[in-house]
Order: sequence, then structure tokens, then C-alpha cells
Amino acid sequence: MQSLWDQTRMELRTSLSVQEYTAWIACLRTSATLDDALAVEAPSIFHRNWVQTHFLDRIRSTAAHVAGHPVAVSISVGAGIPLPMKVAASPVPVVQKSAAPAHPSFTFDNFVVGQCNELAHGGARAVADNPGGVYNPLFIHGGVGLGKTHLVHAIANAVRLRHRSYRVLSIGAELFINEMVSSLRRQQMEQFHRRFRKIDTLVVDDVQFIAGKERTQEEFFHTFNLLAAAGKQIVLSSDKPPHAIPNLEAGLRNRFEGGLIVEVTRPDRETRRRILAAKASQQNIEIPETVLDYLTERIRAASVRELEGALTRLKAMASLVGRTIDLALAEETLGRLYPARPDRVPVERVETLVSEALAIARTTLVSGQRSGPVVFARQVSMYLMRKQIGLSFAAIGERYGRDHTTVLHAVRAIEARRSCDAEVRRLVTSLEERL
Ligand code: ADP
Ligand code: MG
Repeated sequence: MQSLWDQTRMELRTSLSVQEYTAWIACLRTSATLDDALAVEAPSIFHRNWVQTHFLDRIRSTAAHVAGHPVAVSISVGAGIPLPMKVAASPVPVVQKSAAPAHPSFTFDNFVVGQCNELAHGGARAVADNPGGVYNPLFIHGGVGLGKTHLVHAIANAVRLRHRSYRVLSIGAELFINEMVSSLRRQQMEQFHRRFRKIDTLVVDDVQFIAGKERTQEEFFHTFNLLAAAGKQIVLSSDKPPHAIPNLEAGLRNRFEGGLIVEVTRPDRETRRRILAAKASQQNIEIPETVLDYLTERIRAASVRELEGALTRLKAMASLVGRTIDLALAEETLGRLYPARPDRVPVERVETLVSEALAIARTTLVSGQRSGPVVFARQVSMYLMRKQIGLSFAAIGERYGRDHTTVLHAVRAIEARRSCDAEVRRLVTSLEERL
């Protein structure tokens, strides 16, 4: 696993300019990381002060985005500085923040569209083309690392580009909560309301975080209603659809469900490959087709973030050891992290199970015997090899010294009996389960 700091740095690298990143961020080191706290060290007092004034909020919000919850960030000079205390992230002035997009690099141009996200992408594009005019709100949900933040920021960036005078605010729900709580504490709710009322397009990322927090939900409901009534576009992302978010107040849920709800799901093989290829070319990583195949095949659980991580590792490893990226390097770097999938169930296992279940010796099963019970057992065996292992008719036939039409017939026979004979159904199902 990459550390929180590594991931945060990776994101900062894409969202800051090259100069900013190399001058100020690249040389920072972590002295310690906890789940919710990050202690970073700078090489000099001047450097620390500069980073503190210019980048601290950015580092903090990026770390929170990566971690999925607020992270306390402290910056010190030199080594051996203790971890920061657990503190709530300090509020960032909301409207100033909207002036600079949080993720200028998240655009439609570099979003790869596949079956897994094509509806979400379509909805996002429609909203970006016509903010406030089509789907309001647009609600994008799906698992971690599947492109929700990318899409909602792409909308924000596109609207900013097209409508220069629009006030576009994209904000993580945690930041909204922090903002609200601190306004409440300082008794500045009037200002808080005023700020939000001025917005033309509001993007709230990870809106599930506001569930269960009574006052926050109330405030958000209020803001939502005001903006929606004024025809302003609202875009939301969440890790779950509205109805599945626990402790979400009914009024809000209703609002969330009042527009278009779209889901992003795990990318299929083809999309994984295209994403890898796109990311590699964006980062000028030369990667042979064979390695793309390898990565696509191995990294399956994959959130897109995981694909990116693998690519980054591979690139780092290549430059560290001074080799070009090839299959061998990929295997050395990632092979243990993403082991090959276990081989498919061996055919012997099918035969053992069948022979046990029907009390027929395995040797009899593969023999030429044609008595009723043996034929039935053999047919079950063929059926399972076809359905569960996916062997070809010809391969199965070969094993039993029969031609493929016999196998085809066997598979059909079991299929038919399975649907009308409860006993056969029970038998086959239990064998399938044990396989
Ligand atoms: P989520 O918000 O759903 O957890 P993110 O939007 O942060 O996920 O995506 C994680 C990373 O994967 C980001 O760097 C993003 O750019 C990338 N990513 C996700 N989906 C795609 C895609 N379809 N095409 C290109 N990059 C993607
Ligand atoms: Mg996200």
C-alpha cells in the first residue's frame, strides 16, 4: 500500500503546476502518518513558512480527499518532530476556494468512457452543457476510486470554462460541514447563507458524509432548496444511492432523488485496458502491449485508483533500476501484489465429487461402461465440466473417448432433467456448490 502521504503527493502533483510542485512539495518528507494525521517536514524555516501559507489548505483538502475523512496536517522543519494532535481541519473560506478549481486535471477529455460509466458520463456532460437546465440535481454514486470525483470536477471545470461569470463551487461534503460548524460557532450563519446563495453551480462531493448530522442536513436542505428554486445546478456524488445512505433525512433524500441518479461501476476488462493506456500516455510512460495485457488481466478487483497506483509503481521502479518497462519488470514489481488467479477447478475434482455422490468408482466413470447409473453419472460429470469449467465439447469428449455430439447430448439431457426432476436438481446444485 502506498502511504497516505505518497497518495496525497501524487494527487498534488496533478493538481499543482509543475513549478509549484517541484519547488515546494516534491522535497517535503513525512515524519509520521496516522490515519487521520500527517506530519510533514520541510528543509528550512523559510520553506516551511511558505508551504504553510500557500499550500497547507491544499495539502489538507487533498489528504482528506485521499483518505475519505478529515486529516490533520502539520508542517515542521527537520527531523524528529512529534505527530500533530488530532484536530478538526480549519475552515477554508468557501468562495475564495471556488475561484481556483480543486482539480483542474479532472476533465472530460481525460475521462475514459466505458460500459461502467457511460450513463454517468452522459448525464455529467448534459449537465455541463446546460447547467440548471436538464437534470437537477445530478446524483452520481458508486464505489471508491471509480471516477465520481473526477466526473463532478469535470462538470465544474467545464462550466467554469464555458461560463466565465458563473460562480461555481465544488466542495467536499466534509468541508461543507466544517464550514458550517465553524460559522455556527462564530455565529456567522447569515454570512454562511449569503455565500451559498450566490453560487450558480454547486458541486458537493461525497455527500453521504452529511447524513446523520442533524444541523448540517438542515442547512444543506435549506441551501439546496434556495439554489434549486433559483434554477441553479446542483451536482452530488456519493458512495451509495440516496435510498441506501443511512440516516439521511427524508426531505433530503427526496431532493436527491428528484433529478437524475446515475451509477459508476467497476470497469470491465476492455475499459481497464483503455484507462491504463490513456494514463500511461498522459504521463509519457512507454508501455508495451504485453504489459498492458498483463496489468489488465491481473488487476481486476480494480478501482481505477488501483490501476493508476500500479502504473506509478511500475514507472518508479523502471527509473529506479534504470530499466525499460517490460513484462519481466511488471512481474517483479507487481506480481506478488497481484498474483495470478488460481487455476480453474481441475477436471479430476469434478469426477471425484460425482463418483462420491453417486457411489460409482472413478475408473468406472471414465470406462466404456454403459449401464444406466454409470451413463447418468458420466453425463453429470460432462455437464459440470462444460458449465462450471467451461471445457469445450471436444475436450470433454476426448476425455471419455466419445465424440462431441455425445457430450452435447449429455449436457442437454442433464439440463432438461435438472429443470423437471427435483432430485437431479438437488444433486447437481449440491455438486456445483461443492465445486
Ligand atoms: P471516486 O471519487 O469515485 O472515489 P476518483 O474520481 O477520485 O474516484 O477516481 C480515482 C482516480 O481514478 C482518479 O485519479 C481519476 O482520475 C481516475 N479515474 C477514475 N475513473 C476514470 C476514468 N473513467 N477515466 C480516467 N480516469 C479515471
Ligand atoms: Mg471521490
